[in-house]
Amino acid sequence: MKQFWNPNSINKNKAMVENLQNYGVITSDEVAKAMESVDRGIFVPDRSSAYVDSPMSIGYNVTISAPHMHAMCLQLLEKNLKPGMRVLDVGSGTGYLTACFAVMVGSEGRAIGVEHIPELVASSVKNIEASVASPLMKEGSLSVHVGDGRQGWAEFGPYDAIHVGAAAPEIPEALIDELKPGGRLVIPVGNIFQDLKVVDKNSDGSVSIKDETSVRYVPLTSREAQLRGE
Ligand code: SAH
Repeated sequence: MKQFWNPNSINKNKAMVENLQNYGVITSDEVAKAMESVDRGIFVPDRSSAYVDSPMSIGYNVTISAPHMHAMCLQLLEKNLKPGMRVLDVGSGTGYLTACFAVMVGSEGRAIGVEHIPELVASSVKNIEASVASPLMKEGSLSVHVGDGRQGWAEFGPYDAIHVGAAAPEIPEALIDELKPGGRLVIPVGNIFQDLKVVDKNSDGSVSIKDETSVRYVPLTSREAQLRGE
């Protein structure tokens, strides 16, 4: 597993962001500002290792991604996360990345999280309430929903940006359908060997797909299969 740093002193969210900038993972001011403002420590079960560059168990056989993966996905989607834009986060888990998205698109935009474990949705709402994104949730520009994210969330689409935080066997058609022309989907695809794919919808509705990097995510699957540990 790739890891950029592993500090053992008292960790700070700002230092985590600075490390990601120093390693060239974060290159945009908007991404840095969003990650600085959303304290990762609020979202993880064990605050003492919240800022270590490593995934962490959040129960239900899944993990919160490592900070460098969150940063990489925010960077890949940055141009589709401008104020006023619409973003869908499939497999929103702790709500951390959904909160970062919401901060970037702001109160004129719309950030939607979809997660199929109801308990994780409930705790993500509490996490978001304790974070800088709380006012956005109160005013309705940020919301998290219980559902099967393989279907996307058509109610608030089409989206400028869709992020999937779990690996799909193939790209779900519904997610491509819910992209705007000019929209971008970032999704890990594969089983044991996975690629982070970047899917751009062109103005004529066709899609261009490229592989960004090899990754290791938990599967995008049914709730039952996940809870059985498959
Ligand atoms: N991005 C989140 C969570 C990553 S783990 C974070 O970093 O905190 C992947 C998440 O996807 C888990 O919470 C898991 O429960 C969820 N998931 C897996 N399959 C899903 C599906 N079909 N629909 C919705 N959520 C799903």
